[in-house]
Amino acid sequence: MKEWRNLPYEQMLKAATAFIQKHDRFLIVSHVNPDGDAISSTLAVAYMLKQLGKTYIAVNEDDIPERFRYLWGYEDWLRTEQLPPDAVYDAVISVDCADYARIGTLKDRLSPATPHLNIDHHSTNNGFGSEVLIREEAAATAEILDDLADFLGVTWSKDLADCIYTGLLTDTGGFRYSNTSPAVLRKASRLVERGVQASELAQCLLEQITSAHVQLLQRALSRLAFEFDGKLAWIYVTLQDIAETKASNEDLEGLVNYPKNIEGVETGMLLKEVSEGVYKASLRSHAIVDVAKVAQQFGGGGHKRAAGCTIEGTLQEAAEQLVKEVGLVLK
Ligand code: 5GP
Ligand code: MN
Repeated sequence: MKEWRNLPYEQMLKAATAFIQKHDRFLIVSHVNPDGDAISSTLAVAYMLKQLGKTYIAVNEDDIPERFRYLWGYEDWLRTEQLPPDAVYDAVISVDCADYARIGTLKDRLSPATPHLNIDHHSTNNGFGSEVLIREEAAATAEILDDLADFLGVTWSKDLADCIYTGLLTDTGGFRYSNTSPAVLRKASRLVERGVQASELAQCLLEQITSAHVQLLQRALSRLAFEFDGKLAWIYVTLQDIAETKASNEDLEGLVNYPKNIEGVETGMLLKEVSEGVYKASLRSHAIVDVAKVAQQFGGGGHKRAAGCTIEGTLQEAAEQLVKEVGLVLK
């Protein structure tokens, strides 16, 4: 594990540049159930490698959700189970993964001897890999890649700009969350100058919702619960809800914002049943609770204001444990 916290950002950018220049055939991977930043970061790295004359395989535990299928290179995306056993690569680049387990079942197929560059922006990143490029001040992994593109001397195009902008837009919740720094807005502005159609992407990624999402929202809100004088609000969805509404993972995106955004609420929580007796928690906070720390108590991680973890037990047991942990701060 690399101790990345005291490494200067420029030094890491240079090391990452050297890593990419040194190798020729890459495997690019991001986390399971990939979000906008994970997908666009994977494809942005693919784009840069291609332009530098390298080869790549972009692989992920899961498919690219439909709404991201305008991004450059999405057709080449492979699911881990589609990766040929004799796939050839000399180096791995992971993007947006705070720990090794986040890459899913691919971790059982990688050799620890293969050089691995870990590019990420999670404060809980444990420094896995042989080379790291980690910046917790970055709003998105895509923001780091915007800097890396300039270090690599990549020629910008609308395709690359769309990838980077998508990561910035989704991880900042449409330039609204507390990670929306002056640097992010400057980068976004430059990306729009490079051809990004900002209103089109906002419509497709933020405004438009699926019918399954609305049905899940209806069910989840009917069970809305509060703790600690309304400072914690939480909802849940069951396997039955997901089956009956025919929802996919992307239909759950953003549900956690409903409890979080209620007036007076400090921390919002969503529990999603992922298999019998297993719950995936999404945690969001405004200013007080460091939800990354809460999630870490259960083997998860993330950011101070947005984090997640997986808990085994009944719904009641999972909720009680999380409520108790958040209560240590809120009570
Ligand atoms: P979400 O609640 O949207 O799934 O995730 C919120 C944030 O927490 C994201 O940055 C995500 O990468 C991170 N996160 C979610 N689940 C886990 C987990 O199980 N482990 C770690 N390390 N991070 C997670
Ligand atoms: Mn991210």
